[in-house]
Amino acid sequence: MKFDIVIIGGGHAGIEAAYIASQFKLKIGLITMPGIPLGSAPCNPSVGGVGKGQVVRELDALGGLMGILADHAGIQFRTLNDSKGFAVQSTRVQIDKDLYAKKAEEIIVENSFIKVIREKVISIDKKNDIFSITTSETEYSASKLILTVGTFLNGKMHTGSVQTLGGRIGCEASNGLDGLLSNVKTRQQRFKTGTPPRLDKNTIDYSKLEEQPSDSTVRNFHCLHKPNQRYVAQVSCYLAKTNPDTMGIIRDNKEKSPMFNGQIKGVGARYCPSIEDKAFRYPDKNIHHVFIEPEGLDLETMYPSGISSSLPAEVQLSYVRSIEGLEKAEIKVYGYAVEYDVVDTTQLNLTLEHNELAGLYFAGQVNGTSGYEEAAGQGFIAGVNAALSFLNLEPLILNRHESYIGVMIEDLTSNLRDEPYRLFTARSENRLYIREDNTLQRMNPYRTQLLLHEEIDQYQVRFLAKYKNLMDFCDETMIPETSELLVQFSGPTELQKLVRRLSVSELLRQGWLNPITTLEKTLQHYGLQVDGDLIKTVAISKKYDGYIKRSEDQNERLKKMDSMKIDWQKIISSGNVSFECKQRIERIRPETFGQLKLIEGIRPATLVVVASKAL
Ligand SMILES: Cc1cc2nc3c(=O)[nH]c(=O)nc-3n(C[C@H](O)[C@H](O)[C@H](O)COP(=O)(O)OP(=O)(O)OC[C@H]3O[C@@H](n4cnc5c(N)ncnc54)[C@H](O)[C@@H]3O)c2cc1C
Repeated sequence: MKFDIVIIGGGHAGIEAAYIASQFKLKIGLITMPGIPLGSAPCNPSVGGVGKGQVVRELDALGGLMGILADHAGIQFRTLNDSKGFAVQSTRVQIDKDLYAKKAEEIIVENSFIKVIREKVISIDKKNDIFSITTSETEYSASKLILTVGTFLNGKMHTGSVQTLGGRIGCEASNGLDGLLSNVKTRQQRFKTGTPPRLDKNTIDYSKLEEQPSDSTVRNFHCLHKPNQRYVAQVSCYLAKTNPDTMGIIRDNKEKSPMFNGQIKGVGARYCPSIEDKAFRYPDKNIHHVFIEPEGLDLETMYPSGISSSLPAEVQLSYVRSIEGLEKAEIKVYGYAVEYDVVDTTQLNLTLEHNELAGLYFAGQVNGTSGYEEAAGQGFIAGVNAALSFLNLEPLILNRHESYIGVMIEDLTSNLRDEPYRLFTARSENRLYIREDNTLQRMNPYRTQLLLHEEIDQYQVRFLAKYKNLMDFCDETMIPETSELLVQFSGPTELQKLVRRLSVSELLRQGWLNPITTLEKTLQHYGLQVDGDLIKTVAISKKYDGYIKRSEDQNERLKKMDSMKIDWQKIISSGNVSFECKQRIERIRPETFGQLKLIEGIRPATLVVVASKAL
C-alpha cells in the first residue's frame, strides 16, 4: 500500500501529526503496535500544566487535536499559579485516560484521510526518495515518514531487580533504530523515565487528605467548545504528604534501588524526579507533596503524582502505607522505570526533518523529551511540515519569541540535551508575551499561512475582529472624572489619582486594580455584553501595554536578527572562525542566526562576524 505520509507510532506525537496532515487531504498511514490504544497515557492522567497548558492552547489555535481530546475527557479543571502573574498561569486538566484514548480512536479512525494500521514495524528502507516500511504482516511505502516511537526503542523496564524488555508495562519493545534505519544516530546515553504505583481507590482514607475540587470557571482548551462546558462528571483530586518515615524507608533501601545501585544507566528528567531522587538528592527534606489523582471515572485506580519509583514491589508498598491517608492502601500496579534509546536531535532541522535523510521526520519522546504536550507539539510540527513539503509549500517554523512550541523545537535542534527535555515557562525569554490568554493573536498568522479553511479559521477571523473592537473601545472611551463608575474602583487615596478624565485603557493600567474585573464592571456600566475570553485577553494586554510594547519592539528586533538566514557551509569554510566553532556548526548545520546563537560553545567573535554579514 502506498501512502503520501506514513507515521509510525499512535501516541501523542503520532496522532497529532496524522490529524494536522489529514487537513491537507493527503493519504496518511498511521502504523502503530497492536494492543495499545491511540493517544494512550502510560503515566500521569493529565494534560496541561505550567508551560504545557500554553502548548495545548497553541496547538488548538494551529488546528491541533490535544485540546479537543482533553476537554472531552476532562474530569477536573484547574488554573495553576492563579495567585501569580498572568504570564505563568496555566490550565491543567485531569483526564479520564480511557475516555481520552476512546475519543482519539473515534476522531482518528473515522478520519477518511487516515488509515490506522495496527502492526509492528520491523524495518525501514529508503530507495529513490521512497521509504519502504516492513511490518510484522506486510510492506508499505511512503514519500514522507515520521517516526514517533516514544519510549519503545530498545525499551527495558525495571522494578527492583526484575528487568523486562518492553516500551511500557504490558507492551513489547521496538527494535533499536540501528535495526530499523541506517544513517540515523541515536545518542550514546540512554534516557529513562518512571511511573508511580497505582493505588486501589477504595483503599484510601480521603478524610485525611486535602480535597481539590474542579474549578468550574476554567475555560476549555478547544476554541469551538463552549468555554465552561464540561463533557463528563467532575471529580476531585486530593493532596497527601510524605513524612520522615516514608523517606526513611526509601533511604534504608538504597542498595535495592535500580537507580542508585548501578542497574539503571539511563538519565532521567531533573524536573520530574522519582521519589528515590528526592530522598537522596535532598537528604534533609522529608515532606513532599503527593497528589492523589483519579485515572478515570470508571477506573478503580488512583495515580499518586510525585512518588514515581523503580524500587522493589515490597518497598513501594511499605513507603506508600507510611503516608497519612494511605495506611491501608493496596497497590493495583507497581511503579517501574523504563530505559530507552533517543535520537540525536542535532541531526534535525527546525521542521524536525533529518538533515541528511530528506523526507524523514522525528517527533515526541524519541527526540529525548518527556511529556504528552511536548510530544504533541513536535508531532504537529513534523506532521504539518511533512505535508507542506509533500505539497512543495513553504515550511511552517514557529518563532521562539512567539510560542512555546517554537522555544522547544529550537532548543532541541540547537544543542544536545544531557537529560530528558521538559517545557516550563522559564525556558522562554519572552514569557510576558507568550501567555495562554493571547494564544490566538500569536498563532493566527501561522495558522493563516497554512491556507486551510476549516471551522476554526472562520472562528479566528470573528474573534480577532471582536478583539480589535474591544481594544478600540478601551482606547476611545473616555470616562468623565465625575463618573460613578470610578467610585467603585477606588478608596479615598486612589480616588485622588483618578480626578481627571481618563480612557478605559488608562483605567486598566492603574496598579491597584485587577484588570479583568475592572473591564467587566466597565462593560456592564456601559451596558455591553462581551465574552469572558475576550475580556481577559484585552484586559491583560491593556494592563501590560507598556511592557508588552517594549518587549514586542525588542522581540521584533531579535526576531529579525534571529531569523536572518545564514550559510553554515560558508561559515565553516572561512578562515575567521575557530576550528572548534566549525566542528560544532557542522554538526548542527544552523539555518538561521538564532539557531547559531543557541549552539553551545560558539564564540562571541564568530557571532559578530556572522551578524555583520561578513560571512
Ligand atoms: C513509564 C513511563 C513514565 C512516564 N512518565 C511521565 C511523566 O511522569 N510525565 C510525563 O509528562 N510523561 C511521562 N511519560 C512520558 C509520556 O508517556 C510520553 O512523553 C508521551 O506518551 C510521549 O508521546 P509519544 O507520542 O512520543 O510516544 P508514546 O506515547 O510512547 O507512543 C509511542 C507509540 O509508538 C508505537 N510504536 C513504538 N515502536 C513501534 C514499532 N516498531 N512499530 C509500530 N509502532 C510502534 C507504540 O505502540 C506507541 O503507540 C512516561 C512514559 C512512560 C512509559
